[in-house]
Amino acid sequence: MARIAMSEMLRDASRRGYAVPCFNAINLDMIRGIIEAAEEERSPVILCHAEIHFKYTPLEQIAPIMVDAMTRAKVPVSILLDHGKSFSAVTNAMHLGFNAIMFDGSEYEYEENVRRTSEVVKIAKTLGVSVEGELGYVTRPRSGGAEGEDDDSIIDDTSLYTDPAQAREFIERTGIDALAAAFGTVHGVYLKKPELDLQRLEKIRDAAGVPIVMHGGSGLSDSDFIAAIDKGVAKINYYTGMALKVMDHAKERLAQSKDNVFYHEFMMNIIHDFKEDARQIMRTFRSSGQA
Ligand SMILES: [Zn+2]
Repeated sequence: MARIAMSEMLRDASRRGYAVPCFNAINLDMIRGIIEAAEEERSPVILCHAEIHFKYTPLEQIAPIMVDAMTRAKVPVSILLDHGKSFSAVTNAMHLGFNAIMFDGSEYEYEENVRRTSEVVKIAKTLGVSVEGELGYVTRPRSGGAEGEDDDSIIDDTSLYTDPAQAREFIERTGIDALAAAFGTVHGVYLKKPELDLQRLEKIRDAAGVPIVMHGGSGLSDSDFIAAIDKGVAKINYYTGMALKVMDHAKERLAQSKDNVFYHEFMMNIIHDFKEDARQIMRTFRSSGQA
């Protein structure tokens, strides 16, 4: 069990109609909560660390902890560099034992995205590392709390959505194992009710021939998740919702506590809260019981 290629994991999810949850885990507490949930739920899981989070937790510090968690887990685990943009982050992550890379070339024009993504795939393939690419652009609005630089009005720009025909060409030319597609989701907190373009998603899935990844999962309803999975999404990235929910609980707990609060008590409660939120996500994504 334990370490498994992300490509294989996602192929199984596509075949059997569920999505593998991919959690951004920026410290040991998150990793422990998520792995405990995965083991109890018998769910495959992906732990990831985003380049945008390196300022909170250096890659070199979290990588050995993630590799250890992956190796010892009783369920299939992959560890992924999330939104790798720099060549140094991508090669460092592979060197430190990540077995999957999400290379995000979505800010470049098409040909440059193809060129850069292909370069990453060429190196990754020789090391048995899976690669997820992004075509189209899943926005990151400034007010959404996901450290985005995008203008808030960008969420209405459907020209940024993934084009199905171009997706097929992109996958053929780059050789990626999975495609992050844009069809109405947003990174961070939703500034208005999300509307997913499920018809487009279906066309992308039919054209792509590789598993589809949905970013910006926080704030979607359970029925949105289910609809997206039914239309071909095999991996869903999730962070913002969990990060906020766990802190809401922590605030309530601290407000109610009268005596001294020891850090270790606080920590154990935090791990428990991460675990329970991860468990709910695994049930919603139908990954529970699939390991
Ligand atoms: Zn993302």
